[in-house]
Amino acid sequence: MKVLKIDHLGIAVPSLAEALEAYRALGFEPEATHEVPSEGVRTAFLPVGESHLELLEPTDAGSAIAKFLERRKGLHHVCVLVEDIDAALAELRGRGVELIDAQPRTGAGGCRVAFLHPRAAGGVLLELKQAEPDPA
Ligand code: ZN
Repeated sequence: MKVLKIDHLGIAVPSLAEALEAYRALGFEPEATHEVPSEGVRTAFLPVGESHLELLEPTDAGSAIAKFLERRKGLHHVCVLVEDIDAALAELRGRGVELIDAQPRTGAGGCRVAFLHPRAAGGVLLELKQAEPDPA
């Protein structure tokens, strides 16, 4: 599996509007917001150099982010960019790594993503994201 870079850090927040106000006061500017109905979240991406912070607000009480926020706030996941997500998942499956997603799902902005179980990564929820193909 070839990991290219940290794509973003996912931060769970009860209110996107309040979090954006707080982050703006820290000097961050949102680049894009996305509704992801399939995940029950609304997200905002804040550029940090070549990576991003992803703020995640639940829009559905049954979503994973809503459940996370019942226990705590803050850092929810780390997302790394991989060259080929299908090959990466096949390789990890072959090594017996505990996956949450056997197959990629559609994440914010229509990207193909997959989550590994925190037990596989030192207690961190790790998200893999397919690198965009180079524009020809
Ligand atoms: Zn993410």
